[in-house]
Amino acid sequence: MFVVSVMPCTAKKYEINRPEMDDSGFRDVDVVITTRELARMIRQAGLNFAKLPDEEFDTPMGVASGAGLIFGATGGVLEAALRTIYEIETGQELPLPGYVQSLRGMDGLKQAEIEMPDGKIRVAIAHGTGNAKLVMEKIKAGEHFHFVEIMGCPGGCVGGGGQPILSYRRGWEGSMDYRMDRADSIYKAEKDLPYRKSHENPEVKKLYEEFLDHPFSEKAHKLLHTSYTPRSPFPKAD
Ligand code: SF4
Repeated sequence: MFVVSVMPCTAKKYEINRPEMDDSGFRDVDVVITTRELARMIRQAGLNFAKLPDEEFDTPMGVASGAGLIFGATGGVLEAALRTIYEIETGQELPLPGYVQSLRGMDGLKQAEIEMPDGKIRVAIAHGTGNAKLVMEKIKAGEHFHFVEIMGCPGGCVGGGGQPILSYRRGWEGSMDYRMDRADSIYKAEKDLPYRKSHENPEVKKLYEEFLDHPFSEKAHKLLHTSYTPRSPFPKAD
């Protein structure tokens, strides 16, 4: 098996070498290419996607939920998690408008309070490292959040370093419009998917039933979480 990940993110080329990425004794991912590189390969090969027949994706991981799709936009990871948490806790869908609207959009720092049966959940969303710093300053000053989502790239992965290059002809504000357009397109696309919450995705359910035991199991915690340590912004010279 040779695993190729297609990513919006140049940082993933570094991450495949993280020590925990060989749990089976083999590297989990062999090669990372960016969406921009894939697009160039498609063009070089002369493929016209519009003329190719549609096919189902292979399993496992062939079924994508809307919750997975919105991971690409700032606020999307947090919204995806809340769709599941809110429904499990209240038996109802996370309401839109209301909560969901406060999690979306290109404001650098968004905050919301979500009413749950046992009290409020306070959340914060930041994109771009300047805004990440603002969240950290709030936490240092004593503010408490139950859930913080930080995406390194402005707009989230839709504006990732490996994505097709954004035009800056309209300046920084104009580039944010492009990111917003990309985010809008994934929110539109996810509305038509048969599954919009991670816990409804049949392949996620099967993964827990047959391999990870149950949500929050020891195995799930070990395999689905990571930790970070301070490191230099520049790779060390050999
Ligand atoms: S936000 Fe940027 S740095 Fe973070 S995963 Fe997405 S593309 Fe990579």
